[in-house]
Amino acid sequence: MTKETMKKKKTIALIAHDHLKEALVKWCVENRDKLQKHFLCGTGTTARLISDATGLHVEGYKSGPLGGDQQIGAKVAEGKIDMLIFFWDPLEALPHDPDVRALLRIAVVYDIPVATNRATADFIMTSFYIDDEYERDVQDFTPVIEKECSTEKIIISER
Ligand code: PGA
Repeated sequence: MTKETMKKKKTIALIAHDHLKEALVKWCVENRDKLQKHFLCGTGTTARLISDATGLHVEGYKSGPLGGDQQIGAKVAEGKIDMLIFFWDPLEALPHDPDVRALLRIAVVYDIPVATNRATADFIMTSFYIDDEYERDVQDFTPVIEKECSTEKIIISER
């Protein structure tokens, strides 16, 4: 297990599925003062709507169905995103559900805080750590990967 230090000023990714965009925009407006202390980014449409409503800069990636969730997942893996506020829709299947699942998985792998509803987002934003440093655990999965893919385990069939 290694430790990664989250700085006081964090990079927060914001994503909302269509039926929840209004709820996330409203939450961002209500939390504008807290959010403005951090770097913000999000999937394309969500980022634009939040930026329009709050006047804050929100770096926009591609729209979710076009790969935005994957871009954000890659940034989490690179250690460039510290937390995720992701209002995903529990009542509708979406074409990019596999990307959503992948993003939530990678957030667990890298032990970043994830809010998937308003209550959790409220708890995160009022946490002591939101404006302080935080040491998060990053598990070293290298031994597992190496064991699974060791040369000895790969059987090459003879012709
Ligand atoms: P959007 O993407 O912000 O571009 O709408 C969100 C999503 O559907 O994952």
